[in-house]
Amino acid sequence: MRMILIGPPGAGKGTQAANLVKRYQITHISTGDMFRSAVKAGTEFGTQADAYMKAGDLVPDEIVIGMVLERIAQPDCAAGFMLDGFPRTRAQAAALDAALKAAEVGLDAVVLIDVADALIEERITGRRSDPETKTIYHLKYNPPPAEVAGRVVQRKDDTAEACTARLGKYHKETAPVIPFYEEAGLLVRVDGVGAPDEVFVRITTALEALRTQAAT
Ligand code: ADP
Ligand code: ADP
Repeated sequence: MRMILIGPPGAGKGTQAANLVKRYQITHISTGDMFRSAVKAGTEFGTQADAYMKAGDLVPDEIVIGMVLERIAQPDCAAGFMLDGFPRTRAQAAALDAALKAAEVGLDAVVLIDVADALIEERITGRRSDPETKTIYHLKYNPPPAEVAGRVVQRKDDTAEACTARLGKYHKETAPVIPFYEEAGLLVRVDGVGAPDEVFVRITTALEALRTQAAT
C-alpha cells in the first residue's frame, strides 16, 4: 500500500499515521520529522530548514523533493509507504507523480483529514510529544500520563503566530493539490473531528471502500 496523508497543520496526520502504518505494515515517512531530526543533528541542511519551519513557512521545493524521492527509493519502502506531510505544493505532487511513474508503481490512496480552521489553533498550541517514544499528546484531548508528563516537549513552531502562518500556507499552497488526487479517483475525505479512534475507523473504512471500488 502506498498512501498519502494530507490535511491542515494539527489535523491529526501524525496521530493517525502511527496506527495506520501498523495496520498496513508500511513505512512512515514524515517530512516534518525528517527536518526536525536534521535540526537536532545540527547539519547544514537542518539549519537551512529550521529558519523556514520556525517562521511557519514551507521549506523550498528543491530541498524537500530530493529528500523524499531519495527516501522512497530505499528498500524499506518497497512494500509500501505512508507519506505524512508531503506533497504540500503542486510542484511536489508533480515530482512525486513523475517519480512513481518512472518506477512503474502507483499510489493507492490519498487520505484528507478535514478539520475546520477554527479548531486548529487549540490543537497546535496544546500539542506535546514524548521525546523518548515520539508519542503525540494533547494537553486537553489526550493528556500525557503522569510518568511521561515531566518530559514532554513542545515544538518551536507550535505557537499561535506560526500556526496562523502555517494555516495560510496550507490554504494557498497545499489545498490546490487536492483536486489533482480527486480527479485521479484516489481521494478519501475523512472528518477529523471526534476521538482519534473514531477517526481511525473512518479512515480504514473509507480505504476498504476505495479498495473494493478499485477491484470492481
Ligand atoms: P504539521 O504537523 O503542522 O502538519 P509537519 O511536522 O508536517 O507539520 O511540518 C513542520 C514544518 O516542516 C512545516 O511547517 C514546514 O516548515 C516543514 N515541512 C514539512 N513538510 C514539508 C513539505 N512537504 N514541504 C515544505 N515544507 C515542509
Ligand atoms: P498533524 O500531524 O496533522 O499536525 P497531530 O497528529 O500532531 O497533527 O495532532 C495535533 C494535535 O491534536 C496533537 O496534540 C494531538 O494529540 C491532537 N489530536 C490529534 N487527533 C485528535 C482528535 N481526533 N481530536 C482531538 N485532538 C486530536
